Amino acid sequence: MKDNIKCTIIQDILPLYADDVVSGDTKELVQQHLKQCEKCRAEFDSMTKAIYLPKETSKTMFKGLQKKWRKKKLIISLLSIFGAFIILSGLFYGLFIHQIAIEVTEISLEIEEYDNNQLVSFYTGRDAVVSVKATHPLEVNVNGVNEQVIFIYYAESLGYKYINRNQQLYKAPFQLTESEKADAVYYAEFDINQISSGEDTWEEVAKRGKLIWERRHEKE
Ligand SMILES: [Zn+2]
Repeated sequence: MKDNIKCTIIQDILPLYADDVVSGDTKELVQQHLKQCEKCRAEFDSMTKAIYLPKETSKTMFKGLQKKWRKKKLIISLLSIFGAFIILSGLFYGLFIHQIAIEVTEISLEIEEYDNNQLVSFYTGRDAVVSVKATHPLEVNVNGVNEQVIFIYYAESLGYKYINRNQQLYKAPFQLTESEKADAVYYAEFDINQISSGEDTWEEVAKRGKLIWERRHEKE
């Protein structure tokens, strides 16, 4: 009972004690009590903690954090815009600029020979976005015989293939360069860079390719 009264009295004095504005006797009394009473000690601890946390500091600290976070948020959103741009331009390139060779089985191709021995390739298929890659006649050893071979393939982008998939087919002519000299035309995908670097040869391209036209020789 006595202790209880004391606790309430002590807690009334505690703010003054914490500010160190009590007389020596009171100070001693409070100190004695705090040594024995856990409850008042906890009260005193929480008070001193509250007092010693400078309000201004915590405010500016918070402001600093906010600033940092805002900066971080800005960087994050800039990065996501940049990332989205990279992804979209990559997607655009992949869909509309990068072209993939069309398989010979997917294509309707006719090589026609004209009076001056010139060859014209007629592609029947989707849209003008399809591009044609063709070589001039190259001397290639095919099955032990040296022949003047033209390589040709058509390519299209995936995006346009999808967009134009219901489009009416049309027939596009393409005149083959120096084709009066050609003995044969092969449909085959080739990469000039790989051939000039030695990774691939025209002989290999001919083996992979499909013979789509051959000149009838006079001997027959
Ligand atoms: Zn107490």
